[in-house]
Amino acid sequence: MQVSSPVKALRQAEVTPPPALAAAMPTHLFERLRMNPIPVLVMDSPSAHTLWAGFCAASEYTEQGEIAIGRCLVEPTVRQPRRSAILSTYLHEAAHRLLPDQHHHNAAFGAMMLVLYLRAGSIDGADLWQSSGLYDYQDEAENLPQGFNWAWRTANELATTELPAEECAEIIAQRYGKWQEWLAGAAERKQARLAKAQANAQYIESLKETRFLLAGLGFMAGMLAGAMIALQFVA
Ligand SMILES: [Zn+2]
Repeated sequence: MQVSSPVKALRQAEVTPPPALAAAMPTHLFERLRMNPIPVLVMDSPSAHTLWAGFCAASEYTEQGEIAIGRCLVEPTVRQPRRSAILSTYLHEAAHRLLPDQHHHNAAFGAMMLVLYLRAGSIDGADLWQSSGLYDYQDEAENLPQGFNWAWRTANELATTELPAEECAEIIAQRYGKWQEWLAGAAERKQARLAKAQANAQYIESLKETRFLLAGLGFMAGMLAGAMIALQFVA
């Protein structure tokens, strides 16, 4: 078919990484993370008004599963690039890439990201896990407090293991499914606990009534016995 104008397509090319990006991701970091490096696509922000540090497109829309990092983050602008900002953004997007359900900011995502942050350790004098925030759990909605608690415990357990990050992602996805099932049953369990407490209260109440009845009968029997003894003396 003939076209009226030339058609172009963008192709990625390997380039020398910006020095700040190279410095933020040395080889020994990936040994600590126990993670295969994920390619980075350095991109300009789509508009001056967009607050944008990085993103993770669905794998089918990438060339090599790459994740995108904003150029403004890795090249000097009004301020020098910060290692912790580059690394926390890269690992945030890497957590999206590693999980099967890539686009959510839920407790599974929070746990995966924390595994990477905890393994990365301290950057420029501050623990990288402190870079995580409520934004990373926004899809948990009303379960956010429990979600953070679950993610924190799961991440701390997995971060210290020798398991590769890719395997941690599989474990997290499986456990998250089970945790959600457990959470869905919470209302039923609360109802069952209330019914049991009510039954216990009724049982205690019935015991009290029986005790008063027995005490009354005992009193009457005592009075009767006393009267009979008195009658014997009179006789
Ligand atoms: Zn994200």
